[in-house]
Amino acid sequence: MAYQSVKGTNDTLPSKSYQWHYIEDIFRKSADLFGYKELRTPIFEKTEVFSRSLGEETDIVGKEMYTFEDKGGDMLTLRPEMTAALVRSVIQHSLANEVSDLRLWYFGPFFRRERAQKGRYRQFHQFGAECISSPNPEADVEVIQLAVEIINRLGIDDYKLLLNSIGNTESRKVYKEELVKYLKSHNDKLSADSRNRLEKNPLRVLDSKDSGDREVVENAPVILDYLDDVSKSHFDQVKNLLDQLGIPYEIEDKLVRGLDYYCHTVFEFQSTALGAQNSFGGGGRYDGLFSQLGGKDTPAVGFAMGVERLLLIVDEIGKMPRPEPDCEFYIVNKSEKNIPVSFKIQDILRRHCKSVISDLQRRSVKGQFKESGKLNAPYTITIHDDYPETGKITLKHFDKGIQEDISLEELENYKFD
Ligand code: AMP
Repeated sequence: MAYQSVKGTNDTLPSKSYQWHYIEDIFRKSADLFGYKELRTPIFEKTEVFSRSLGEETDIVGKEMYTFEDKGGDMLTLRPEMTAALVRSVIQHSLANEVSDLRLWYFGPFFRRERAQKGRYRQFHQFGAECISSPNPEADVEVIQLAVEIINRLGIDDYKLLLNSIGNTESRKVYKEELVKYLKSHNDKLSADSRNRLEKNPLRVLDSKDSGDREVVENAPVILDYLDDVSKSHFDQVKNLLDQLGIPYEIEDKLVRGLDYYCHTVFEFQSTALGAQNSFGGGGRYDGLFSQLGGKDTPAVGFAMGVERLLLIVDEIGKMPRPEPDCEFYIVNKSEKNIPVSFKIQDILRRHCKSVISDLQRRSVKGQFKESGKLNAPYTITIHDDYPETGKITLKHFDKGIQEDISLEELENYKFD
């Protein structure tokens, strides 16, 4: 039997790759508009980069990482997310500077051994942006605004921005104590996973999908009631600025996001077009991560968006652009002796930046015209048998109703629009 791809991974077929180019162009363009520069890192890192930053208690580190020992005995992991790898790189190359903002974006594949289903894959792609060095709420808003720019450019109107603050370390300490007290009083209703997490990382219980846990969490104390003045002021400034920009959001007081390194602002984007996997992006502030990974204390905030999920949404809401024709010109060659002429014509057209293809199967003239129609090429060029004598080829534009006999010199100087 022929091989199949690994479960939870996808091939992007030629008929769909234009959709990826479309969305990648929007990412790039939007990042440019905000002055963000691309950072590329390897797709694998030393395992510790992730295990030390995400938290041992997270599903990602506990259950989902593709970790292996290489032939030299190093423990390596296919990156399950970017932030930790990006911070590793920023520290390694001393890119961050207290007095100026470092604005970075990334795009690429990530790997998590999750239960594969629609919108949830084992290799998936994220676009993300990180704003490094500013402790101020305007940095939080800037990254949210960049995410919204992308969402708008993709034509996604029906989405929700959920917003919360998990405060600074001091606020979280007080809150965690109260939360643990509450959760312990409902210990019998909690799942085994949540009971385990209760001591080490009680906030994670708020993220649980288990229905019993969700019932308990419903009436749990909320972090917003425990924010100290500094945390409250940070959050108020974020909300005020979003209000002034007219970016709508909903406060979701149980939103904590799964990873250990977040503080203050956390957010998530959801769409009703997605069904069960309704989250298509999220992020937050992570002021403690740099020091956790051995760097100098550096404040930072960022987000990541799932590309497969964005593509599903854009398709579902009917906003996916139609594919461009495979090529603008198709060469119909009536005689094998004129193959060199065909190649010459193609060369001329490509220097005009026109895409062009010719038949490589030596099909009949009828077959070539049929192929040209199938490809939807707006232009055909016909090379007649008697080209060596006449020196003329026929250029035809179907929609414009143009048909002209021209020489190769005239083609060289042709004014295409
Ligand atoms: P996270 O890094 O978990 O905050 O995820 C950010 C975004 O990446 C999510 O909102 C999803 O859109 C996407 N994402 C995360 N995990 C997967 C996955 N296994 N398959 C597809 N998309 C994913």
